Amino acid sequence: MNIHEYQAKQLLREYGVNVPNGLPALSVSEAVTSAEKLDVPVVVVKAQIHAGGRGKAGGVKIAKTPVEVASFAQELLGKTLVTHQTGPEGKVIERLLIEEASKIKKEYYLSFIVDRQTANIVMMGSEEGGVDIENVAAETPEKIFMEYIDPVTGLAAFQATRMAYAINIPEPAIRRAVTIMQKLYSAFIAKDCSQIEINPLVLTEDDKMVVLDAKINFDDSALYRHPEIAVLRDESEEDPKERKAAASGLNYVNLGGDVACMVNGAGLAMATVDMLKFYGGEPANFLDVGGDSEPEKIAKAFKIMLSGGQAKGIFVNIFGGINRCDNIAKGIVEAAHIVSKDGHSLPVPVVVRLEGSMVEEGREILRNTPIANVFTCPTMEKGAEQIVRLVAEAREKE
Ligand code: ADP
Ligand code: MG
Repeated sequence: MNIHEYQAKQLLREYGVNVPNGLPALSVSEAVTSAEKLDVPVVVVKAQIHAGGRGKAGGVKIAKTPVEVASFAQELLGKTLVTHQTGPEGKVIERLLIEEASKIKKEYYLSFIVDRQTANIVMMGSEEGGVDIENVAAETPEKIFMEYIDPVTGLAAFQATRMAYAINIPEPAIRRAVTIMQKLYSAFIAKDCSQIEINPLVLTEDDKMVVLDAKINFDDSALYRHPEIAVLRDESEEDPKERKAAASGLNYVNLGGDVACMVNGAGLAMATVDMLKFYGGEPANFLDVGGDSEPEKIAKAFKIMLSGGQAKGIFVNIFGGINRCDNIAKGIVEAAHIVSKDGHSLPVPVVVRLEGSMVEEGREILRNTPIANVFTCPTMEKGAEQIVRLVAEAREKE
């Protein structure tokens, strides 16, 4: 789960991390009152969306007067901001952060992330922080330093100090930087984070270290331990299809393409996505319906895949182990009832490959209840090839 920058800063403040004073705002008038309350000569008006790259996209504005605050708030609220992290559709700005402007001497990069390969937490740092960090990683990776932290012993003072020197924090600010690293690490552990990214961490003109941007991700599986974090969820920032699927107990990840697929088991789902790619298709999603595929659940999955018009075809690839192929077939029939007016058709071609438990019964159901646009296929390879071809044909006709 992600949270907004202003929420992340609030959380880090509780851990004693130095963040600028700031207040959220949902309207133009609130933006102006927030700026007045801060009572500083210069404020920054920052778009709050769950994506970085706002600075370059015009989502971070410096305001010197209440009139400027009002006009920037007016400009940003309700606007769709497209950054290199939002995808071409962008994200609508519904909240702002009004915060005191810092006098920046230099911008650094600092982040913590779980590294599965070494079963450690990695702290990464660079003296080339700021809005171009992606280029630094791509072109001069030697400017990014790592410290591997054993979660049993935690972040050692020498590691934080070594990082501070590696990224060339000037002498008067070394201890402040080390303290910030230690506090960030404490927050990371205490709140079961999967990522904390500070970009930029800044050195101010008076040699203070300040966290100017903060992105925090939490481990969803640990959210039950943190009701105070769970309430920070902003559902409007999440993919509506992924949200609906989660509510129905389905593992759905939007992949942006137009060939939807419904599979049981994460391994088979990944193999299916690969196979669709192999035949030149663009998978619309990853969808693992799991092992208890009641017909209602299958019908719900169809509804989710078909909503919004993104999918131009669906590939159903089920190996019936715990699942029963007859239930899957019943689900497809039920889906046709729900999503079509006549009850016997689906709006896009559906290729079904069933194998395993109760497969004959499943095929029988599909044979006896003919639904327009449903094709059965004996193997996964043939099925993938066929759905990619049908989708390509459908696109040509458009
Ligand atoms: P994003 O990463 O989405 O572009 P940031 O919060 O990192 O957004 O802001 C982009 C840039 O704007 C920063 O690198 C910094 O130079 C400037 N900036 C952000 N907040 C402040 C602030 N409070 N005071 C001064 N400059 C700021
Ligand atoms: Mg940033």
